[in-house]
Amino acid sequence: MADYQLIIIGGGLSGLAAGIRAARFGQKILILERHSLPGGLNSYYFRKGHLLETGLHAMTNFAPPGDKRAPLNRLFRQLKLSRKRFVTREQFGSEIVFPGHALQFSNDISLLAKEIGREFSGSEPGFLRLVQEMEQYDPFAPAPWRSARTFLSALLNNPLLENMLLLPLMVYGNAEERDMDLGQFAIMFRALFLEGFFRPGETIREFLDQLLEQFKTFGGEVRFNTEVSEIVRDSDRVLGVRLASGEMVTADASASPERQLSAAGPLIRSATPAG
Ligand SMILES: Cc1cc2nc3c(=O)[nH]c(=O)nc-3n(C[C@H](O)[C@H](O)[C@H](O)COP(=O)(O)OP(=O)(O)OC[C@H]3O[C@@H](n4cnc5c(N)ncnc54)[C@H](O)[C@@H]3O)c2cc1C
Repeated sequence: MADYQLIIIGGGLSGLAAGIRAARFGQKILILERHSLPGGLNSYYFRKGHLLETGLHAMTNFAPPGDKRAPLNRLFRQLKLSRKRFVTREQFGSEIVFPGHALQFSNDISLLAKEIGREFSGSEPGFLRLVQEMEQYDPFAPAPWRSARTFLSALLNNPLLENMLLLPLMVYGNAEERDMDLGQFAIMFRALFLEGFFRPGETIREFLDQLLEQFKTFGGEVRFNTEVSEIVRDSDRVLGVRLASGEMVTADASASPERQLSAAGPLIRSATPAG
């Protein structure tokens, strides 16, 4: 009998979220985190009594608590967290700055439309058509890769404006260098321009505390200052992990029809590139 059904390496946001989901469905879960605090890239530390955040400057996909279909509120439901308890502060405003050109935007899309009219005379109607298309586009319907640049060019016919719109969307959520898939473009366009930026009312620390508390409430265990040095396998089967201290922790790799995460195997590695 293994020590745990599932071991998650890393107590960053992904590891905590995966842990809550798995623990919620009755799995015996262990999160192993090499640092003394949770959060990974999105964590915090103290200097001279001040809390300093390491990553977070903004979250995307703002939605008020009542909007049941909004991605932010769906995420809270999936983690069984109270969206009402999570105080949010919407952005005052942001700006896309290129040499000689700047476009301000906020969580009200009409500001960006006006700014485009001011900077790029005659381009506002094309942008409003783009907004309409993005509101209706289903990015989750299976579709072959489609160039967002070609799509934008047909609507706006202004390479500088197209680059200015693409910049924040590509920085925040694109794995390609020069173009992006139209479905991904639609996801990011909604996340940044239609829903918009916000911050937690408090710091990332309170949010991380809330995630940890939820994980533990569902019976999850976490060990800080615990580095995994090796994933131990027996041919294709993962048996568990060896810690830097030499200790071995085993994970139950036997398949079970009820197991929610059997397809993922008994380990989740949670680190992702910085966004
Ligand atoms: C400067 C900066 C600013 C950012 N700003 C924002 C922002 O404003 N908004 C936003 O949404 N995102 C932002 N991000 C991106 C965001 O921080 C990351 O996308 C997110 O934190 C990734 O979470 P994760 O859990 O996937 O990975 P990580 O945060 O990388 O977590 C991985 C965890 O695994 C642990 N780990 C790794 N290897 C081992 C091991 N062998 N044993 C045990 N533990 C291990 C690490 O210590 C870490 O805690 C920013 C990132 C950076 C660096």
